[in-house]
Amino acid sequence: VGGHPKPQQGPMKPAGVDRILAIASGKGGVGKSTVSSNLAVALARQGRRVGLLDADIYGPSQPRMMGVNKRPASPDGKTIIPLHAHGVTIMSIGFMLDPDQAVVWRGPMLMGALQQMLGQVEWGELDVLIVDLPPGTGDVQLTLCQKSELSGAIVVSTPQDVALLDARKAINMFEMLKTPVLGLIENMSTYICPECGHEAHLFGHGGVAAEAEKMGVPLLGALPIDLDTRLAGDSGTPIAAGDGPAAEAYARIAAGLVK
Ligand code: ADP
Repeated sequence: VGGHPKPQQGPMKPAGVDRILAIASGKGGVGKSTVSSNLAVALARQGRRVGLLDADIYGPSQPRMMGVNKRPASPDGKTIIPLHAHGVTIMSIGFMLDPDQAVVWRGPMLMGALQQMLGQVEWGELDVLIVDLPPGTGDVQLTLCQKSELSGAIVVSTPQDVALLDARKAINMFEMLKTPVLGLIENMSTYICPECGHEAHLFGHGGVAAEAEKMGVPLLGALPIDLDTRLAGDSGTPIAAGDGPAAEAYARIAAGLVK
């Protein structure tokens, strides 16, 4: 990537990639990147050949969450060799930037970077390429939907009204762009006190299920707020790489995604 990426011609679905699944959210901070990394790891544990493309250009989280961060090699100056961690092939714009560097690209440069990450990265043979989108309904989403033959999109939301409102917009955008919405995932659904087992609905209760029903899309799963999930993400080994209830929840969602 490097320098000033320019838009390029040509297809954006890499030849060896069977299907591209986008993970989206209306709002930031609802756990879209956490869900992306964990679903990728869960799918890899189920024997799938999985890629993870961090397209959250303005706030790439995957180098941290997947525990890999170095500049990918480009032996011929054209193709880019992706990195690997936890059984997943990974590319992130974050690999090309200094940690504190702000991305101040305009639309065409963003599109150039996206096209490079799809078209010039040696993804190899993949059953599924998970794309961690930026939040919202902007240029990156438009470009991907229109140019990359997405197989489907999954929308992550918390049960909070403000998050759901934006999740609805994201679903409407995908429907407008004729990208199938595979379903909603409720994240941070409940908090279970590790001391006493009491369950609290910090962001509300039942909102995502109701929204899914109203929008006519499946509810793919509900993930509690969980300290270990946050710690695992921060440490570079997603919770889905281990055992326990959160890993099992991700395994169940993953098993339903790729039949
Ligand atoms: P987004 O990609 O939507 O901006 P992130 O995945 O970066 O959101 O998550 C925001 C923060 O919340 C991160 O610190 C992450 O570790 C934490 N987080 C996400 N999901 C959970 C969860 N289920 N339980 C606890 N912390 C979570």
